[in-house]
Amino acid sequence: MEITDTREELCVCGGRLKKLGDSPIRVSAPYAPQDEIWTCQVCAKFFMKTWRAGNIDYYTEKADYVAVFDELKPSLKFCLSCKGSRETNNPIYLRQPVCTKCFILKEWEDRHSRREVEKKFPSDTELSNFLAGARALENRSYAEALEKLKPFAEMGSALAEYNLGEILEKDFEDRQNVPAALECYIKAARKLFPQAFYKVGKLFSENHKIGINLSEAYKWFNLGAYLGDFPSIAARDNMAAKLSHEEILKAQEESLLELRKLWNAADLRKRIADTLKKEYGELEGNFRYAAVLEGKAFQTFILDYREAEKLYRNLAKDRFTPAMCRLGEKLAQGSGIPKNLDEAAQWLSTAISRDYLPAIDFAWSEVCSGSAIKLEREWLKERFLEQIDNGNAQAMYSWGMINFKGRGVSENFEDAHKWLNLAQYFAVKLPRPSPLETIEREISFDQLERTLKATQQWLEEHQGKIRSLAKDLRNLRDRVMTSGAGKWFVLGESFHYGGEGYLRHVILAYGCFDLALKAGEVSATSRLEYLKRILTSAKIEYAVNVTGEFAKTGKVPC
Ligand SMILES: [Zn+2]
Ligand SMILES: [Zn+2]
Repeated sequence: MEITDTREELCVCGGRLKKLGDSPIRVSAPYAPQDEIWTCQVCAKFFMKTWRAGNIDYYTEKADYVAVFDELKPSLKFCLSCKGSRETNNPIYLRQPVCTKCFILKEWEDRHSRREVEKKFPSDTELSNFLAGARALENRSYAEALEKLKPFAEMGSALAEYNLGEILEKDFEDRQNVPAALECYIKAARKLFPQAFYKVGKLFSENHKIGINLSEAYKWFNLGAYLGDFPSIAARDNMAAKLSHEEILKAQEESLLELRKLWNAADLRKRIADTLKKEYGELEGNFRYAAVLEGKAFQTFILDYREAEKLYRNLAKDRFTPAMCRLGEKLAQGSGIPKNLDEAAQWLSTAISRDYLPAIDFAWSEVCSGSAIKLEREWLKERFLEQIDNGNAQAMYSWGMINFKGRGVSENFEDAHKWLNLAQYFAVKLPRPSPLETIEREISFDQLERTLKATQQWLEEHQGKIRSLAKDLRNLRDRVMTSGAGKWFVLGESFHYGGEGYLRHVILAYGCFDLALKAGEVSATSRLEYLKRILTSAKIEYAVNVTGEFAKTGKVPC
């Protein structure tokens, strides 16, 4: 088995990621490389590095694995510190999901170094009392939990304060004290205990004893999300759905003010903005930072729509095309900016006129899903075709998928096969299972043959325009005419899957495997069986004859 490790070791904040060690629990597929824990030296977030197979070849077991970095979630099944087992409701210590015991020890040690407690470690009795209190809380023995945890809350432990809040909120009716619970949560939040932000937001969003205040709730969820609390993200979205755009901006502004005022050391925004500019330059750095501020880069971050809009607008005025496109998208969908279809159309058409494919893609899907945005469908179609004619492989892919899915055009499998096949020829990775194979099972043999001929013809016609093409076609010819009989199996594989520099051509693939078998390569048998199902046995002789011609001339039929 061969693994291509496509490394991406730069965080979305532009900071270098650093490996901390292997994950004790496996998340990726069994044959993928080891999962690992990483951290970013700029934004201080922790990540799980897992592997996604981009392209598995089940015959050869070759695979391209792409590294995926996911922020560590509270559902992490092991403690990041002691590697012991961990429950979802266990605490997070400064963005690290840990077990209760490790939290107590780490917090104690850090508080000692800030001279807030005298002893460096809790005594065994203290530790076991704290843990017994936490267990009692889990078992809803509130009286016992209160007795055990209160002293630690009074000493200023964020976890104990948070637990005390839970007791006061959940205890039996007569002993409940929601305002006091709120106070406890706020105290814990002051000490950067992420789950406490969620609790405060939750109380403001639904507890009548506190007084419902959705903007205030949004503010706390926005801060909680920034500090790594995942439930705060969905809760923030819920609040946003109930607030006006102006109210959201106001609530965001307040959370930013509080962040600066109360948690200044945790405010890494400037550092992140500077790192991105240093890594990507002024324009792209600002563009990426705007994406961070509108929640498109990290999962957990504080949202600042006003600043994001300002950055996008400045970049768009500076003629930075990706920002024009993004601004157009936001205006078209009213995401983080009030909807304005006329302005959206202006920015998008400018980006499209500058041959920016993502803008063409986006505009097409808007127009086809019934948006009233004023962009002409025919004009967009011409832009796709123009890009394709210039050899833009991504445009071939987009247009192929549009034809495959019948999005805005009537479904056309022959065209879809042609453009997707060409996209793959020019190095685009197609999704698995390959849409080409799906199409081949749907269309008739005559249609398949016609589309393959048209595809090869496109290649021949564009030799003058796309420089590498003439050389590719010549190389293939030389290979067929000169190398030994061992080539047939390899050529069969190339035509079976297609890939950079090779069309997927199941007719030639069959013929090549047939020649390979005749030259004594027995492993071709299973491939022939497989392809027979796509071609049907009536067309096999035809495939063998076509390949016979190909073997003589080295020219793919068109
Ligand atoms: Zn980072
Ligand atoms: Zn632990």
